[in-house]
Amino acid sequence: MYKINTSKLLKEVMQNYFTRLGSGEKKVAWCTSVGPAELLRSFGFEVYFPENHGALMGATRTATDFIPVATKYGFSNQICSYTTADIGAFISNESPLKKHYKSEGIPKPDLLVYNTNQCREVQDWFTFYADHFKVPIVGIHPPRYLDEVTKDDIKQVVDEFKRIIPYCEQVSGCKFDIDHFKETIKLSKDATILWQKVLKTSVSDTPPMSFFDGTIHMGPIVVLRGTELAVDYYRKLLDELNSNVEAKTGFVDDVKCRIFWDGMPIWGKLRMLSDLFSNVGAAVVASTYCNSWIFDDFDENEPFESSALAYTKIFINRSEFAKIKMLKEWISEYKVDGVIFHDAKTCFNNSNTRFGLPQRFKEQTGLPVLVIEGDLCDLRFFSEGQSISKIETFVEQLEHQKTFK
Ligand code: SF4
Repeated sequence: MYKINTSKLLKEVMQNYFTRLGSGEKKVAWCTSVGPAELLRSFGFEVYFPENHGALMGATRTATDFIPVATKYGFSNQICSYTTADIGAFISNESPLKKHYKSEGIPKPDLLVYNTNQCREVQDWFTFYADHFKVPIVGIHPPRYLDEVTKDDIKQVVDEFKRIIPYCEQVSGCKFDIDHFKETIKLSKDATILWQKVLKTSVSDTPPMSFFDGTIHMGPIVVLRGTELAVDYYRKLLDELNSNVEAKTGFVDDVKCRIFWDGMPIWGKLRMLSDLFSNVGAAVVASTYCNSWIFDDFDENEPFESSALAYTKIFINRSEFAKIKMLKEWISEYKVDGVIFHDAKTCFNNSNTRFGLPQRFKEQTGLPVLVIEGDLCDLRFFSEGQSISKIETFVEQLEHQKTFK
């Protein structure tokens, strides 16, 4: 059975990350997943990402135990289930980190920093904790849903980045050092370019890493970007995947069709979905989700401007026009036969299904599309039986189209 051996190292890397976070040796800054992690690291903070905790709660299927706790506390069960699962678990003094990483649970924040480039929900989520722990909170509010990122947009975001510096100085006790910032940007750039190469191995006819595996292996690019650890990890992973491509070994023996996944993962059903697709010869080769941590605009010579650009031009922050353009490029690069759009009920920000984008995408490209209803964490919104039959019918359609093309 096909396996990515670097997964063993991934466990070690993530374990060490959580051990360090809980050690209390350094001040801890909480950051959103596409927030200014490099700037925070340049002050020597350990950086913790609550969305990663939300994803872990989804993957371990503990989220649904805690969402109702947050609901009782006044949070709607229709809003981001990362937020409700995370806050519900916090109120219950529980965390899957205790069992999976033998840690004390989530680390106490000294500073909270968010970027609403992905959604405004993160601001409310982080504010709950800032109020609870009585620690400073500061955010970046970039222009949203952009066709193009203009010079004026960059200028606005650069100013907002710079506004964070006094908070970091005050909490960390360190003066801002532009050279440290440049170093972390360089490390982040090296890691993100390796991550991009990792993803691109799946353009191969024997793709070595599926979208489902990618969601697991993206751990370091989310939580450790700006460190040597992430760079080393992706070098090793890339070596293994390149060897597998050369040996023509991939996660599907005989690829009958290639699929692109748009939207959030369904964390609690990754294994089930991965097996379902592989068993019918369908390779889910790429996704908007995994591609969202490619920040190839980072430039250590222009650390503020390039960070502002990289974090503002991400897929989730773009107009429909820009999103369709990006999708078309990925579809052609990964030789995709059809696209699955996941309509995650509690994340409209990362669900591109609600205003007819899939239909317009289909009209423009001629590619078959399928909309799956589900959620990132709240499995009450996911009907397994219905989804399986929709997926099986879709894959049959793709295979039929390929055979008679
Ligand atoms: S983008 Fe969606 S899943 Fe992520 S934090 Fe925002 S609402 Fe939650």
